[in-house]
Amino acid sequence: MMAAGTAASRGRKVLLLEKNKRLGAKLIISGGGRCNLTNAEESVDFLLSNYGKAKGFLHSSFSQFGVKDTFNFFAGLGLPLVVQARKRVFPKSEKATDVFMVLEKYMQAGGVRIKCLSEVDGIAGKHGKIHHVCVNGEKISADSFIIATGGKSHPETGSTGDGFKWLHQLGHTVVDANPTIVPLAVKEKWVKSLSGVSLSAIKVTFFVDGKSKIKKKGKILFTHFGVSGPMILNLAGRVNKLLHEGEVKMEIDCFPDTDLGALDKRVTNFFNINKNKSLNNILPEICPAGLAKSIMQLLSFNTEAKVHSVTRDQRKEIVHLLKALPATVTGLMGADRAVITDGGVSIKEIDGKTMRSRLYDNLFITGDMLHISRPSGGYSLQLCWTTGYVAGINA
Ligand SMILES: Cc1cc2nc3c(=O)[nH]c(=O)nc-3n(C[C@H](O)[C@H](O)[C@H](O)COP(=O)(O)OP(=O)(O)OC[C@H]3O[C@@H](n4cnc5c(N)ncnc54)[C@H](O)[C@@H]3O)c2cc1C
Repeated sequence: MMAAGTAASRGRKVLLLEKNKRLGAKLIISGGGRCNLTNAEESVDFLLSNYGKAKGFLHSSFSQFGVKDTFNFFAGLGLPLVVQARKRVFPKSEKATDVFMVLEKYMQAGGVRIKCLSEVDGIAGKHGKIHHVCVNGEKISADSFIIATGGKSHPETGSTGDGFKWLHQLGHTVVDANPTIVPLAVKEKWVKSLSGVSLSAIKVTFFVDGKSKIKKKGKILFTHFGVSGPMILNLAGRVNKLLHEGEVKMEIDCFPDTDLGALDKRVTNFFNINKNKSLNNILPEICPAGLAKSIMQLLSFNTEAKVHSVTRDQRKEIVHLLKALPATVTGLMGADRAVITDGGVSIKEIDGKTMRSRLYDNLFITGDMLHISRPSGGYSLQLCWTTGYVAGINA
């Protein structure tokens, strides 16, 4: 949509083909329907380092359309943006549909022709030029072709990796797309029974063979299949590598800023004040909200007893669980639950100034199609605005 609108704003005649009934199915579910559309990191150098090995490749395109341009673009079309925690940027209305409407307006202003329910089922090219695409048996030719068919995450939105197949057939190197910003599947029932509960300011540690491999503080969200939330999503790629080393255990520290001894003291004091109450009733007051039931399931003793009868070892067991809730990671969830997939078209075969294919002179490749890793936090959509704009300027 960004590429089409930009090309049209230069007076180009643009036809946008979309296989769904409507455009923007993934955009309108982004950021939980609020659309985290960029990241307000001021240092371009730091911002680009979030794109891993593609940092150098993206320098030119970000200098043509960077984060500031995203702010100006959306505000200029009547959609002011706000910066929230971790520099994530949302529309002030917090509605992804408003972002979509701005892009629609942009395309309308330039006279983009939009044909929905038009599934492209092939692209023909020879001697460094694309000649036509095929849609429902019809050949459509053009001077330039911009491919923005997305990655493979949430395929129900329309991104099923079609573009990867065509480009592979045309001789481009396409790295297999696997889920990367994706929740983790966990074995234990207690995790699944907490579905919907989220804990802020916890620390999670991942182990292989008892050795600590990754530690991170942040927020965790329990789901009916495991764990999610921005911190987990961003760690999934690294956890995936650990899964190749052996069984991955994780521990959740609910009080990362309090050491074991201090927490034990706090619990002891609390127990002294509440001696005659039953443990069941007071556990919710020392556990993070929603967690008491699971802690009770994990304890090796009956929690119906009065607090004064809780032994030292039993109290230590409670404190230990609060510091190190154990779970086993069985894998990454699939593409259907991923925010993005990694993999895609090798950027070595694309000119970073224009998004033009180095193999086909009139072919441009953008957005999730590119083999560029990045974390969550608005970096994916910024990549779309930037590469879409640059392709639209050069097509
Ligand atoms: C649940 C979820 C939440 C997200 N939240 C955020 C967020 O808050 N911030 C952020 O930065 N990123 C977020 N992302 C990632 C972001 O949405 C994507 O990076 C972005 O949508 C990619 O845009 P794209 O144009 O490259 O591809 P897509 O948005 O996938 O669009 C591709 C389009 O091509 C169409 N298409 C595919 N094949 C064909 C074909 N053969 N013929 C015709 N049309 C075809 C599809 O139907 C689709 O409409 C989220 C992703 C998901 C899944």
